[in-house]
Amino acid sequence: MNKEVRVRFAPSPTGALHIGGVRTALYNYLFAKKNKGTFVLRIEDTDQTRYVEGAEEYIQNALDWLGIAPDEGIVQGGNFGPYKQSERKELYLKEAQRLIDEDKAYYAFDTPEELDAMRERLKAAKVANPVYDSITRSSMKNSLTLSLDEVQSRINAGGPYVIRLKVPRAEEVRLNDMVRGWVKVHSSNIDDKILVKSDGMPTYHLANVVDDHMMEISHVIRGEEWLPSAPLHVLLYQFLGWEDTMPQFAHLPLLLKPDGNGKLSKRDADKKGYPVFPMDWADPVSGEISIGFKEQGYFKESVINFLALLGWNPGTEQEIFDTEELIQAFSIDRINKAGAKFDIDKAKWFNQQYMKAKPLSELAEYLLKDLKEAGIECTPGKAETICALLQERVTFPSEFMTKGMYFFAKPVEYDEKVIRKKWNDEAKSVLQAFANAVKNVDILTPEEALNTLNKVLEEQGVKMGKILQALRVSVTGTGAGPDLMGILSVLGRDEVVDRIETALEKLE
Ligand code: GLU
Repeated sequence: MNKEVRVRFAPSPTGALHIGGVRTALYNYLFAKKNKGTFVLRIEDTDQTRYVEGAEEYIQNALDWLGIAPDEGIVQGGNFGPYKQSERKELYLKEAQRLIDEDKAYYAFDTPEELDAMRERLKAAKVANPVYDSITRSSMKNSLTLSLDEVQSRINAGGPYVIRLKVPRAEEVRLNDMVRGWVKVHSSNIDDKILVKSDGMPTYHLANVVDDHMMEISHVIRGEEWLPSAPLHVLLYQFLGWEDTMPQFAHLPLLLKPDGNGKLSKRDADKKGYPVFPMDWADPVSGEISIGFKEQGYFKESVINFLALLGWNPGTEQEIFDTEELIQAFSIDRINKAGAKFDIDKAKWFNQQYMKAKPLSELAEYLLKDLKEAGIECTPGKAETICALLQERVTFPSEFMTKGMYFFAKPVEYDEKVIRKKWNDEAKSVLQAFANAVKNVDILTPEEALNTLNKVLEEQGVKMGKILQALRVSVTGTGAGPDLMGILSVLGRDEVVDRIETALEKLE
């Protein structure tokens, strides 16, 4: 690569950052790091009507949480600022003016009624796609059809007017997308897009191209929904005389619903109860809360790993990648063309894999925090032991407390099914003898618990398999769980004795 790699993530602060946006940010990040380049965050807020309070902070926080923070941006600074489009207005207007001076753009004064009338006229004439273009512009009110004086006086009067791109009538616009290959569009299919709106603000298209040029962006990696705009952007680069340094484009495949039927949507996610946002988001207008991966208990490593493989493949069977490995393995030519199904079960699977690999000290912190909130005391050592017992059986950290409640509270109920099947005279006799034997133990380690139980079983001539579930239900209330000797050891001698004797009384 001859040009220094500079990529950007350019979200519009119109709400919470959708998980598809996070994936775009991630691919930009990985590509930048892989190529020792720079990852820029630019806030595209030219559409003031869609600005949502708090969205900008949300975007920053989400990237921070996931550990894919930009190198340049509002917070980080950099040599290409400001990094927020509303603060760069003059730059865009200067370029728009240049396009007008060079006869590549023009003023248009048409009222909404006149635009409607034009569309109606074209529809009546059976024009399939009635738009303002190289043909219709000649019958509209613009600086190409009005006299110079008229144009000047309308401008002097302060408008209203817009600036439109003067798209050529018959030219082929081509771009070689790094994911999709050659994309060719005939310019007659591109309308005279508005570059500057009547409120004096640039549109997305103008601002986006001007910024990518000025920020020396080398590669534009973004969602497939922007592919239809790409030919227009190419045209803008040509018109602005920036074709030689035009960035390369890579359009990422769509994220599809879990069943592959259509685009992944927030509404669908809300209905089915899975997250499509990185973190919880409270809509500032409706107050409605959308759930996030973070608060649902997903580790950032699993979100990153899951998203990396949602539209990209390493070309091997490897599935578990830490960020460093992803950086090494990532390349644009392994981005898939086909849409990627958003499979939340796969996300859970990733979380389980990371859960199994986490150090106990970290897991214990989650448990200790939940316990503290519930007003339950526990030492870090005990928390770690509990996490070790449950680690293989949980997907989310919150389950350490919910699934391990019996470590902190005596059972109030006993699993009926187990009782019906396993609570018999034989079991009761073994349990009573076991409780008596445990009383004489100093410290109930898992080994000591097993030895003691084995001795009792031998004396009574009973097989372990016949009473194990009864023992479990007597101390935990449930019929299934992690290593029982481990549980007994955590509970400790006196508690075990007490729970067994209580069960024997209650379950007479
Ligand atoms: N502001 C656009 C968005 O919200 C950016 C598109 C692009 O990357 O060019 O997705």
